[in-house]
Amino acid sequence: MPTTTKEQQRLGRLQSYGVLNTNAEPALDDLVRIAQAAIDAPIVMITFVDESLVWVKSKLGSDITEVPRDVSFCAHTLDNHGEILEVQDANLDERFIANPLVTGPTKMRFYAGAPLITPDGLALGTLCIFDQKPRSLDEPKRLVLSALARQVIAQLELRRTALSEHAIREELRQTIAGLRESDDRYRSLVSALDVGVVMQEHGGAILTANASAERILGLTVDQMKGLSSMDPRWRSVREDGTPFPGEEHPAMQSLSTGRPCRDVVMGVRKPDSTLTWILIHSQPLFHADESQPYAVVTSFHDITDARNYESGLKQDRDSADQASRAKSEFLATMSHEIRTPLNSIMGVAALLQESELEDDQKRLVQLLRRSGDHLLELITDVLDMTRIEAGHVELVQEILDPGELLQRVGEIYEMRAREKHIDYEIRASDRVPTRVVGDPGRIRQVLVNLIGNAIKFTESGGVRVTLDVSFDSEALTFVVSDSGIGIPADKIESMFDPFVQVDGSPTRKEAGTGLGLAISRRLATLMNGSIRAESQPGEGSRFYFSVPIIKVPEDAVTKTETESTQPGQPGGNTRSRQNRGLNILVVDDNPDNLMLIDAFLKNSPHTWQCVNNGENAIQKFANETFDVVLMDVQMPGMDGYATTRQLRSLEEARLKESQIDPAESGTRRAHILALTANAFQEDIDRSLQAGCDAHLTKPITKQILLKNLNSISVATG
Ligand code: ADP
Repeated sequence: MPTTTKEQQRLGRLQSYGVLNTNAEPALDDLVRIAQAAIDAPIVMITFVDESLVWVKSKLGSDITEVPRDVSFCAHTLDNHGEILEVQDANLDERFIANPLVTGPTKMRFYAGAPLITPDGLALGTLCIFDQKPRSLDEPKRLVLSALARQVIAQLELRRTALSEHAIREELRQTIAGLRESDDRYRSLVSALDVGVVMQEHGGAILTANASAERILGLTVDQMKGLSSMDPRWRSVREDGTPFPGEEHPAMQSLSTGRPCRDVVMGVRKPDSTLTWILIHSQPLFHADESQPYAVVTSFHDITDARNYESGLKQDRDSADQASRAKSEFLATMSHEIRTPLNSIMGVAALLQESELEDDQKRLVQLLRRSGDHLLELITDVLDMTRIEAGHVELVQEILDPGELLQRVGEIYEMRAREKHIDYEIRASDRVPTRVVGDPGRIRQVLVNLIGNAIKFTESGGVRVTLDVSFDSEALTFVVSDSGIGIPADKIESMFDPFVQVDGSPTRKEAGTGLGLAISRRLATLMNGSIRAESQPGEGSRFYFSVPIIKVPEDAVTKTETESTQPGQPGGNTRSRQNRGLNILVVDDNPDNLMLIDAFLKNSPHTWQCVNNGENAIQKFANETFDVVLMDVQMPGMDGYATTRQLRSLEEARLKESQIDPAESGTRRAHILALTANAFQEDIDRSLQAGCDAHLTKPITKQILLKNLNSISVATG
């Protein structure tokens, strides 16, 4: 029999009644008993029909427990449109004449069955009676049979409802247990968290909190319950120490905006008044389909330790910065204090050397000058080192010819090499470009140091300096080779540390500061280059110094080119103008310095006047025109910067008065040269800002002073 939808529904319902087993059902047995008595039938059954069998659920007067569906009376009853099927004599009904129930030992002749029909019209089985003799069922008995059949279904329905009620209750019980379990799980999860978690209702009052929240905030959950973020007892503060308004608390923000609020730092006071710093995230909670949050969950970390550590670090950093600044200032002061008298010593020594001296005296003066030079070198190096370490060194970017630069530096040492009777060779490869961008002063400084060392530590053989481009053509490589004493392998790297000398003994032959290589390496690094050394003790050393090649932009013009293309300035003129005398004002509070400059200027074409403070300088300047002012920067009272500013405004007023074309006024201004023992970039910047044209570092030699005056004389001539 094909399974129709109706049949499927029917079978499903049978399943749901849970009657397809042989367990006795007292209620059904009672109905069978009533039926037997009321209808007076020898055999009564309640049957259910499944796919293939007729199950006898309750019975009286028979042992039959099941019958195949296709030979059953009941199957026919189900198809009888809800009516009772009455077979008065099976022998006369061709549907049943060959039925085993009729032909077999049960010898059935009479059958009457009322279908069991569910309220929604599904026929599940029958309440039926059998008799071994033919008979008929009168109307009252038919009514009883139908009524009892309805009672069977009513019983089953009752059971089903009871069953499903039980199932619902069971399901509910399980759901509640599940909920409880998951609630427990969440609770233990939340309480195990190291972050504080607080839940607040939509008005802001705290509903609950976890153990970490209790620990971080120093309050029990009970103490927290009902408190809102607006409660003044929190005494919350911002990072800058100002009060943190309750309405700006991230929880309140989240509640009012409906958006999460993250990474807010807040300080809260525990009841014992200690300040705890927390990092807060708030997340609003919504019911489905609602746009207003019903609550907010706030989590927070205790960041007090991290903050203290950080502020400790910051303090450490600040004090380190301060210490470094103090060191720089100390060195600047020291260098000033040393340079000022050194200035006089060196000046006097230079003047002495020019005078008539006995041979012994000459040697003493030479010693004086050498010691002075060394001291000066030491101060310069220490200052340089400090400046580099403090990040005060800024490289200049100029167009330069590396080969020519090397040649010039090389010349400095020619004399020395000749004196030591060693070979000395400088060579640049043709591949080296003639125009690159770089800091010529700093490249020169490194080369001076490397070549100086090579000559210093070489007694026989020679020194050779080459310049080439690297294999990849990206860098310039200077190689300084010597056949000198060499360097032990374990000293090759430490040699680049400050104050390291390979032979540190007081008896060592060569003077030096131990700073040259340290400075050189730092400068090379600053230029994005490098320095390294190779050496064989007793055979010689080789230093490699590389700097990247920075190509000159196409449109750049070199200084020399600009100068040489200036019209009306043929080179020959320079010499003819060289001796133009300048009117000079010397301003210095130190009588030794004044005396020295006085001595330097003697026999020069210039005229000069000396004053020993700023006020006198201004007075002189107001009454006379000077071409040059030599301005000491550090003076008691009005210092060099202030004096310079005053001189410049005096000058400004004077130029305005005389209505000189501003374009021409440049040539009418005095050249103010700042004289200072401080060689820090800040000092230089400061003097330029005050209105100085250039900066000369003390101690000044006669040569440098005259050279500077000369170039002013040429430029303004
Ligand atoms: P210094 O002013 O003492 O020369 P440097 O930093 O320039 O300081 O050099 C440090 C030390 O490295 C020198 O004292 C010397 O011992 C060693 N050194 C440097 N260059 C050479 C070289 N070409 N040959 C042998 N030793 C050298």
